[in-house]
Amino acid sequence: MAAALKDCAHCKEKFFPNKYHPGDQDYCTKPACRRASACASRKKWRTAQQETNPDFTAQESARKRGLRERQKRQAAALGALAPTAVILRVQHDLAWLRRTVVGLVRIIAGHPSQDAPNPGDMGGLCTALT
Ligand SMILES: [Zn+2]
Repeated sequence: MAAALKDCAHCKEKFFPNKYHPGDQDYCTKPACRRASACASRKKWRTAQQETNPDFTAQESARKRGLRERQKRQAAALGALAPTAVILRVQHDLAWLRRTVVGLVRIIAGHPSQDAPNPGDMGGLCTALT
């Protein structure tokens, strides 16, 4: 016996429910409908918790507050690992190193220009390489 067609509670299209649970399935298998089904299930659970557990709202608030604080700590830890100042310093040093190499190549090739840095200033090169 073939299962009867049902209307999806989300997209309203007809679908064949799972043959082992024909009465339980209200949503078809499209990803958007699966998400809507999960959302409705969570909403049903949350409503039941609010009705049966008097501390549920306070517990949820504490849980969400802890989640936000953990996200702030993680963001601060990431910021400590890669501060903008360090990135800017590395970019500055790489730009200086590029100008120095271009200047040295021009001198070696016999075409020095005025905007090339002084190749005798090796202190800056050592700073850029370390
Ligand atoms: Zn659907």
